[in-house]
Parts: sequence; C-alpha cells; structure tokens
Amino acid sequence: MVNLFMTNPWPKTSSSLIVPGEATSACWSCGTMRAEHFCSACGKVQPPVPVDYFAFFGFPRKLNVDVAVLEREFYQLSRKLHPDLYSRADQREQEWSLEQSSQLNDAYRTLKDPIKRTEYLLRLEGVELEEQSRTATDEARATGQVKKQVVPPDLLEEVFDLNMQLEELKMQKKMGEDDPALIEEIGRQKLELEEKHEALLEELKREWAAWDRAVDSGSEAERVKIRDKMVDILNRRNYLRNLARDVNEVLES
Ligand SMILES: [Zn+2]
Repeated sequence: MVNLFMTNPWPKTSSSLIVPGEATSACWSCGTMRAEHFCSACGKVQPPVPVDYFAFFGFPRKLNVDVAVLEREFYQLSRKLHPDLYSRADQREQEWSLEQSSQLNDAYRTLKDPIKRTEYLLRLEGVELEEQSRTATDEARATGQVKKQVVPPDLLEEVFDLNMQLEELKMQKKMGEDDPALIEEIGRQKLELEEKHEALLEELKREWAAWDRAVDSGSEAERVKIRDKMVDILNRRNYLRNLARDVNEVLES
C-alpha cells in the first residue's frame, strides 16, 4: 500500500484549523483589522495562522478549483511575501514572511495537483488512508505474511490471469526461453491497465462536481457518500499503478 500522505505536512486534526473569517484579527503593528496575510491598512506581513490550504487562498473546500485563479493568487502572494523584501524589516516580519512563503508553496503544490488536492481534502474530511495502510502493515507483520493489497473485486479475474502469465514469463526467462506472443500479450494488458488508471482520474473529476454540489446543499449524508466513492476510486487507481509497475519490472528483467 502506498503512503498517500508522505510528502505533505498535515495538521494533526481538522479541529485545530480555523475558518478564514476567524483568521482575521487586529494587525500587530497598527491595530487595524487585518486582511489574511497582510494588514489591509499598513500592509505589514502578519503572523501565519493555522488555516487549511483551501482557506490559505480564501477558497471554499471544493474540488473544482480554477487553476488559473490559483496560479494568479500564488504568483501575486509569492511576490508580496518574498523574504528578500523584508531583509530590513522587523525581525518578526522577516520570520513571518518566510513561514508564510513556505506555507504558500505547500498550499499551491497541493491544490494544483488534482490527485493531491483530492487526497488533501479527504484527509481534512477525516479519511485516514495512511492509518489504514499502517494497520494493514502491522497486521501482516504480526502474522508473518507479506502484505498484499486488496484486489478490487471487478478486477479479480483479470488480475488472476495476468499474474499467471507473469509467472509463466518469469519461468521462461529463467530457462533462457523466449515467447514473443506471451510478451506481446502481457504488454497489451499493461496498456489496458494504464488506460484504466487514466480513466479513473476522469471518474474522480466527475465526483468533484457532485462533492461541490453537496457542499452547497449542506447535505452531510451526500458528502459522506461521495467521500467514500472518491476513496474507492483512489484506492483502485493506486492498485492499478502498482500492478502496472510490477508488470514493467518483469518485462524489463
Ligand atoms: Zn497594520
């Protein structure tokens, strides 16, 4: 199982986050009500507040993000927060511009990528994919088994056939034999796996629209339903990617 969240720093719990409106308070320098990253009156950099990546950009927790808007906001903020601008400023402002710049980069990288964005949102929604995989690893260790991913039910038959063919090819390679028909057949199946992997991204994107509608309508039941669908799609996608890698390894061995 792939650790989905290895590269991103995560808030411990979503309850430690605050919503954008709450992030607004008095400016440390002039006392005016500040905007999020800078004071709206005197323009000074403000201390970073623990908001989620969507809130950092002032976005709702929706999945259809306008990437052009995201990019524009990113470039504007990164220019304004650039630590070089604050080399002569107050020590605190220097530190805050650094912290805010790094938060900005993390937020941008995460939201720009469709898969990372979805995984991040799922994490905010309390889905602990990492935790599940760790549990699976511990269980496998305890029983002395090699951890195996659960095969999505509709792929069972196909995966079974493919594994048989892979075993056959491995054996042939050991014996120094060569069966071009078998190699061609396995290569064809690998392409199919990759196509399915791609198609799942489109399937995921269709769920985004449903998710965004559920956020608007405020239906908790609907949100949970779509959340679980997205988890299922991501798991299948990872499974297919790992399988395609395995096939590649055998073909290239
Ligand atoms: Zn101010």
